[in-house]
Amino acid sequence: MNIHEYQAKELLAKHGVAVPIGVMATSVDEAVAAAQSLPGPIYVVKAQIHAGGRGKGRFAELGPDAGGGVRIAKSVEEVGEDAREMLGNTLVTVQTGEAGKQVNRLYVTDGVDIAKEYYLALLVDRGSSRVAMVVSTEGGMDIEKVAHDSPEKITTITIDPDAGFIDTDGAKAAETLRLSGGLAEKCSALCRSLYDMFVALDCAMIEVNPLVETGDGELIVLDAKISFDSSAEFRHPELEALRDPSEENPIEVEAARHDLAYIKLDGNIGCMVNGAGLAMATMDIIKLNGAFPANFCDVGGGASKEKVTAAFKLILSDPAVEGILVNIFGGIMRCDVIAEGIVAAAKEVALDVPLVVRLEGTNVEKGKAILAESGLRIVSADDLGDAARKIVAEVRESEAA
Ligand code: GDP
Ligand code: MN
Repeated sequence: MNIHEYQAKELLAKHGVAVPIGVMATSVDEAVAAAQSLPGPIYVVKAQIHAGGRGKGRFAELGPDAGGGVRIAKSVEEVGEDAREMLGNTLVTVQTGEAGKQVNRLYVTDGVDIAKEYYLALLVDRGSSRVAMVVSTEGGMDIEKVAHDSPEKITTITIDPDAGFIDTDGAKAAETLRLSGGLAEKCSALCRSLYDMFVALDCAMIEVNPLVETGDGELIVLDAKISFDSSAEFRHPELEALRDPSEENPIEVEAARHDLAYIKLDGNIGCMVNGAGLAMATMDIIKLNGAFPANFCDVGGGASKEKVTAAFKLILSDPAVEGILVNIFGGIMRCDVIAEGIVAAAKEVALDVPLVVRLEGTNVEKGKAILAESGLRIVSADDLGDAARKIVAEVRESEAA
């Protein structure tokens, strides 16, 4: 689960990390009142969407010359003008895709005098099975570009879970950022607080970009992105209130209700698969045949007919889907149960796109018979390669028609 910047900063402040003061606003009046409550005289008006690159982003409705999603305002009036332009409009950034995201909330913060911008992130490093701290002097900009062009400017510090965060971890971070004296101490303390918070809240990532050194020698978090490990959500009911459903894909929300692992992707071939490994292989082979998957949908090892029906409906509810590939290995799950689910769902939703089904495993003959006798136009495939070729060809044909 992702949260907004203003929520991330509230959590950071609670855990002893320095952030600029600010107030969230959902209307122009609230934004003006927010600015009036801040010391000023410089304010920053920041669009709250679950995507980065807001500063360089542009509003679809305003044209290229208007400001982006992070604006410096020199008066309370200017805050009001910025809020009026931003609220309700669509911000397009490198991370939102072309469709952009509607801005429904703003964060009005006190302007900070920036001397230097740094990059600092904590994440779970699967290679070392540890929390890793990624530190760089190249803050504020696109870290992916830094990683690509000058990887030597990025230092990774892995934290030993037994020892926890130790002084040398903090010292390494400070050294990477070329900080000394009081600033180095502040850096160590900040890193320790971030690590403690990361562990306490079961975070998946805390990304601070930029971390800034201010003109008067403070170290503060100017922008923060936090996401939580969804497998640990049950341990943190208090975080549920931070969820913003308008930022989540409605199909993914519905899938979670049915305990389905569903992830929306950019292509046009819907996939229904059991098991994550098979899902990966299915997506790969679709790509190998020159098309792209519209989703990743794993119904799991022991799905019921109802679950298969729900998955099928979800896949079809995505208007981008122009064909469906069902690829199921019946191990724990029986192929006839799958087939019944597919037939029931296809009838219920009046299937109007090509459907290719590849079944293998327990009761495969029974399953194929159910599909064949259904009266529905279902293309049967014998193996993974055959299935991928058939669905790609079917979709191309219906596109041409
Ligand atoms: P992002 O574009 O979504 O990553 O949003 P950020 O919050 O990181 O803001 C982008 C950039 O705006 C930062 O890297 C800063 O250069 C600038 N910025 C944001 N807040 C302030 C501020 O309080 N003072 C100044 N001078 N610049 C700021
Ligand atoms: Mn940023």
